[in-house]
Amino acid sequence: DAPAAGKACTRFDLEKETELRFEVEAGEAAEQVELELVTGMAEVFGSELNRNKKYTFGPGSKIAVFTWQGCSVSLYGKPEVAYVSKDTPMLLYLNTHAALEQMRKQAERDNERGPRVMVVGPTDVGKSTVCRLLLSYAVRVGRRPTLVELDVGQSGLTSCLAEVFSQRCEVNRKASVGGCIINTCGWVKGSGYQALVHCASAFQVDVVLVLDHERLYNELKRDLPHFVRVVLLPKSGGVVERSKECRREARDEKIREYFYGFRGMSYYPFSFEVRFSDVRIYKIGAPSIPDSCLPLGMSQDDTQLKLVPVTPGRDLTYHVLSVSSAEDGEDSARKGIVESPVCGFIVVTNVDTQTQVMKVLSPAPRPLPRHTLLIMDIRFMDMK
Ligand code: ATP
Repeated sequence: DAPAAGKACTRFDLEKETELRFEVEAGEAAEQVELELVTGMAEVFGSELNRNKKYTFGPGSKIAVFTWQGCSVSLYGKPEVAYVSKDTPMLLYLNTHAALEQMRKQAERDNERGPRVMVVGPTDVGKSTVCRLLLSYAVRVGRRPTLVELDVGQSGLTSCLAEVFSQRCEVNRKASVGGCIINTCGWVKGSGYQALVHCASAFQVDVVLVLDHERLYNELKRDLPHFVRVVLLPKSGGVVERSKECRREARDEKIREYFYGFRGMSYYPFSFEVRFSDVRIYKIGAPSIPDSCLPLGMSQDDTQLKLVPVTPGRDLTYHVLSVSSAEDGEDSARKGIVESPVCGFIVVTNVDTQTQVMKVLSPAPRPLPRHTLLIMDIRFMDMK
């Protein structure tokens, strides 16, 4: 084939129910890869492709182009790998969607709420991809499901989110029938497991999809009420394992996008000084203590959500801080802080302990909208 815009072109003819998997090389200097559907029909993680339109995939992308009917596609550029697989669990995923759709139809008939689905499993089994697939299929048949993205490490907060979602369902019938798909993190042992069970009850989930983890499936079947349907699904052989390094790079890239923009859209962040005396910095969560040492009447949850004041020092440099939307004022801040959403994020780029001032990178100009800041372990070094 003739190369388009100077890029090498490779054509793939896919039989029905097969998928083309390709990966774009990672790293800033890596070249993007373009995908074009030439004949037939195909979808990427549930989103249908338009014919003769070029879709661009940036460094580090790991993509599957699946076809139910058969198609031919062209790739422009040099993917790191590209191969066709006939062995995919897509039919099982489609059946799962069909079963959820039946539940939505019944909810419509009986004036009840639609299915609340939680997707669980260890890291790198394709949880996010399955969520995306089920959401896309639901939207394509005219539903309005809600995606709940959960870091289940802090069970108190998830309860709050569940309440917000329930309130929305009370006033919005379409949202109620559409139900929700809850994505969880890959922490499935010990307190991670407890948090999953807690989340299932807070959201009153009806269906739990367990990806590729038989023990977790059996434990959840044992511990969740009998009316919750727990289903074991295989993972796709295409899901790519990501190393710690790769996850860190992906996270750095997301932070960079937050401040500097993405896909050709540039943002221009601000850099300004903040006096220590103008802000209060907290860390959420005190180190955990054995149950037997907790003061009477206190639970592990109390320590996990405890607000610990942080004195600004040089070690604050490069930390990402979230700006809490909790009202200013020490008392109200302390009360509302754990349950308040954040208004945005800043990065500390320099700390001067002599003048008691720190320099921050912020998406909005000074002054900060609120003065309660929460520190997390994530650091970002601005290389721009
Ligand atoms: P985490 O543990 O980080 O939550 P996860 O279990 O949610 O991960 P995903 O993010 O869904 O996993 O998938 C991991 C990577 O594999 C993603 O980059 C995704 O695009 C890719 N991927 C998923 N399915 C396929 C497939 N069939 N072919 C090729 N790549 C795939």
